[in-house]
Amino acid sequence: MSTVRILPTATTIVLAAAVTAPSAAAQDQAATIGTRLMATPAVKAAVDATRRNEAQIIEEQVRLCEIEAPPFKEQKRAAALKTTFESLGLKNVRIDAVGNVLGERPGTGARPHLVFSAHLDTVFPEGTNVRTTRQGPVIQGPGIADDCRGLAVLIGVIRAMNESKLVTQGSITFVGTVGEEGLGDLRGVKHLFNQELKGRIDRFVSVDGAGLGITHTAVGSRRYRVAYKGPGGHSYGAFGLANPIHALGRAIAKISELRVPGQPKTTFNVGRIGGGTSVNSIAFEAWMEVDLRSADQAALTALDAAALKAFDAALLEENERWGQRGQLTLDRKLVGDRPGGQVPATSPIIAAAVSVTAALGLKGPLDEGSTDSNVPISLGIPAVTIDGGGSAKGTHSLDERFDTTNSWQGTARALLLALALAQ
Ligand SMILES: [Zn+2]
Repeated sequence: MSTVRILPTATTIVLAAAVTAPSAAAQDQAATIGTRLMATPAVKAAVDATRRNEAQIIEEQVRLCEIEAPPFKEQKRAAALKTTFESLGLKNVRIDAVGNVLGERPGTGARPHLVFSAHLDTVFPEGTNVRTTRQGPVIQGPGIADDCRGLAVLIGVIRAMNESKLVTQGSITFVGTVGEEGLGDLRGVKHLFNQELKGRIDRFVSVDGAGLGITHTAVGSRRYRVAYKGPGGHSYGAFGLANPIHALGRAIAKISELRVPGQPKTTFNVGRIGGGTSVNSIAFEAWMEVDLRSADQAALTALDAAALKAFDAALLEENERWGQRGQLTLDRKLVGDRPGGQVPATSPIIAAAVSVTAALGLKGPLDEGSTDSNVPISLGIPAVTIDGGGSAKGTHSLDERFDTTNSWQGTARALLLALALAQ
C-alpha cells in the first residue's frame, strides 16, 4: 500500500521562462530546467509520487491494453480513457469528431498551452487476443509497450500532479490520439492541429513506447497504392495486349534503380504486390504498395516526384511496346502522407527534454522516428516524442513484451517535462 501525501496548499510552478522562442537565453534556461525543478520541494514530492504509484500505473497499463483498439476502431479503449480522465478530475473531458480523447488541466493562465499525448490505436486487427500474461517484471501482450505504456504514463503524470497539488502556469490538455499507426496516417493528431485545437497549441509532447529515447527527427513518408489495369485475356489467344503485370514489373525495376541520399536518410520500398488470376491469363489488374521516407522534407519531395515519374513511364512503355493494344490505365492512390522535419537538438524543447532526463540521473538518446510529433514539427510548433520508460521487445508483434524494471523513471521524466513545458 502507498500513502498519498497531500500538501496543505497548492504549489504553482513558475520558474524563469523556460521554453520560449529559440534564443541563446531560452536555450540556457531550458538546459538547467531539470535541476531547478528538482530543487522545488513540491516537484520532488511529485517525482516521489510517480515512484510510489508505479505499481498502480502498470495496472492501468494492463487494464487499458486488454481493451482492444484496432486501426480505425479505437472507440472502446477511448471510452475507458475518457472515464479515467474524468475520475482524475480533468476538465472539459470529451471525445472529438475523429475519436481523440481530450481532458484539460487548467493552469493559472491559458498559455502556454501544452498538449501532452499518447496514442490509443494498435497495429493489431479486430479479434486479436489482447489478454496479457506476466512473468516476474515482464508483461506480455499486443500493444503493451506501444502504446499502452504512453497512456499509462499520462495517467501517472496527472495523478502525481494532483497528489502534490501542483498548479502550472500554462494549461495542459491531455490527449489519447487515434490513428497513429500505419494507414491511420496520423489522422488523430492532424485533426487536433487542423480543427479541434487549431492555432491554440504552443507545445506538443507524445509519449510513445518504452525506453528513454527522445525523438527530435520526424521521418516523413508518402505511401502509394498503384494499380495497372487493362482488358486482360487468354495468354495465347489474346497475346499482343499490354499486360498489367509486365507494366508493374517495369515500374518496380525503375523504382529499384532510384538513387537517394544516405544523409539525410531517404528510403524507398515496394512492400506488397498482387494481381493476376492464372498462369495462362493476361491479368486485368496488377498492384503494389510503395513506401517512401525521409527525415528531410525536400529529399522526400524529390523522391516522391521520381517515384511518380517511374509509375507513369512504366505505363507509357508497356502501352507503346504493344502498339497501344489493350491499352492500360494507371490508378494511383496516396494512402499515407506523413510530413517530416527536425527539431534541432539545441532547441529549447529538446534541451528541456535532455535536462529533465539528466536531472533524474538518466540518459536519453536522441532518436528519429515517425510519430504523432511529425505533424507539429512540420508546422514549426515545438514538439518532441519521448519514450515511456521500462524496456520493450517485439513491438508490433503478438509477442510484444514490456519489462517494468525501473519503469517509474519514464513516468517521472514525463512529469518533469510536462512541468517544464507548461510554464
Ligand atoms: Zn507508437
